[in-house]
Amino acid sequence: MFVAVTASELRRKVRLSERPVGLAPTMGALHEGHAALVRQARADNATAAVSIFVNPTQFGPGGDFGAYPRDLEADLARLEEAGADLVFAPAVGEMYPDGFDTYVDVGGVAAPLEGKARPGHFRGVATVVCKLLTMTRPDRAYFGQKDAQQCLVVKRLNADLNLGAQIVVVPTVREPDGLALSSRNVYLSPEQRGAAPVLYRSLQAGRRLVCQGTSDAEAVRRRIRGVIEREPLARIDYVSVADACTLQELDRVDRPALASLAAYFGETRLIDNVIIGGGP
Ligand code: AMP
Repeated sequence: MFVAVTASELRRKVRLSERPVGLAPTMGALHEGHAALVRQARADNATAAVSIFVNPTQFGPGGDFGAYPRDLEADLARLEEAGADLVFAPAVGEMYPDGFDTYVDVGGVAAPLEGKARPGHFRGVATVVCKLLTMTRPDRAYFGQKDAQQCLVVKRLNADLNLGAQIVVVPTVREPDGLALSSRNVYLSPEQRGAAPVLYRSLQAGRRLVCQGTSDAEAVRRRIRGVIEREPLARIDYVSVADACTLQELDRVDRPALASLAAYFGETRLIDNVIIGGGP
């Protein structure tokens, strides 16, 4: 496994690597969810590349950029085990040198949900993903369904700017009790960790409602909210039932829908989602 820290090292190494090349962009603090991306990249490609970069431009002013968990040594050990061939772990100055002043803004799909709750977040995500895809020029790039809106933003960006990668979405990896794996789960107190599986339970309750024949999207949102509101340690940020492609809120669940939510446990903000409803 080769570790590159500069863009030119990365480019040189990719040029010498066997194609196809798969890239899994991450912010480190790697867990089994990230490992699933890397294993998929390993299975689909001759070369599996992973980037580790805590991207400052996607954190808001009051965000946890400074406190975001970092452990490069543990990450490299996990990546070796997951079968990565190439790791790109640049410093902030390598990605954003003095004078950096070009950003990528994705339109409609970046606006609601996380885009609304975290102004500037997707501008930072789109900018760094654009840079990583441009530097690496992978045949495939791997993203987790856990960040469903991010997947849509990246697909838009990849198509609109002709970045030429196939975007592969990997299913969400969960703890046995349903909590989606997240680098931010380490912030949860034992009580909050015990309460957090309510998020997935609420989404499953919403999905069940649709499976039972309900197509009223507001009833589904109400059910999801109702389940979370019974958990005193959870504070809802948003609950959405939206078109799975455009992220426009739905009145009726008559096509594939993304049921998604964000909620706080203390200061820790968690997100989760499921796809519900396939339509006729
Ligand atoms: P992050 O390091 O949080 O930016 O995540 C890097 C990539 O891993 C993103 O594409 C995430 O969607 C994906 N990811 C994070 N958590 C999970 C999970 N529990 N299951 C699947 N993919 C995940």
